[in-house]
Amino acid sequence: MRLIQCILTDNDCYKTNQWITPKGVMVHSTGANNPTLKRYVQSLETDEDYDQLIELLGYNRNANDWNRRGVGACVHAFIGKLADGSIATAQTLPWNMRGWHAGNGTTRPSANNTHISFEICEDGLDDADYFGKVYREAVELTAHLCALYDLDPLEPEVVICHREGYRLGMASRHADVEHWFPKFGKTMDDFRADVKAEMEDEEMTQEQFDAMMDDWLTRKSLQKPSGWSQADREWAQSNGIMKGIGDVDGDGETDYAYKSFPTREEMIAVAHRIVKMGKQ
Ligand SMILES: [Zn+2]
Repeated sequence: MRLIQCILTDNDCYKTNQWITPKGVMVHSTGANNPTLKRYVQSLETDEDYDQLIELLGYNRNANDWNRRGVGACVHAFIGKLADGSIATAQTLPWNMRGWHAGNGTTRPSANNTHISFEICEDGLDDADYFGKVYREAVELTAHLCALYDLDPLEPEVVICHREGYRLGMASRHADVEHWFPKFGKTMDDFRADVKAEMEDEEMTQEQFDAMMDDWLTRKSLQKPSGWSQADREWAQSNGIMKGIGDVDGDGETDYAYKSFPTREEMIAVAHRIVKMGKQ
């Protein structure tokens, strides 16, 4: 996932400033053939990082983006194309701000009160390559949000699309995304399973972390020192201040792990050796 942030601070939804405790994620798609993020997401000229964001997003000359008053809707993120054509997620509201995406519920309170929402920018719904990329991005975004709010995507009503929300009575009558995903052989059940799998991929055990940390430290310790420190290293070695760690890589020379971190006991040993050297 490539996540950029461009909060739509001029949207009335943002200005309303209401907050929720997220209980799920609702997947939407825009219902219009325009896969570019700039159609919906724009930075304000007063934003600190305006130039950088407009370079990434491209500039919307039609003045119909959602960072303005009177739009009447707002989601937490959009998935679509950056100016260079690559796919990204633009976060457009704080994740736990109340969005305006589901409309009124028919038999229950609106999903606006419970669900984080994102729109996938639709193209002509006939490009398998584009679909594959935005589907993948949506899986990763949803997995990220479920992990963030400790949600299980396979529990009922947690990860749902707008249409499913309508059937559950918590959203207005829209078709998204069931008019699009099945064209490329994907159901919302597939989507939920893919989100779950993505979350499991990301979970790391303490053992795995420790093993990777050990491996990284070993590789770090075998990196060649920089040239600028040569005189200092020669001084430290010849005065017995820095001692080697043995021939770790088996090349017949003592290794000094100059690119690795010292422990506190190593630091104090070095300090002590310097002080003793000064007294000689
Ligand atoms: Zn929708």
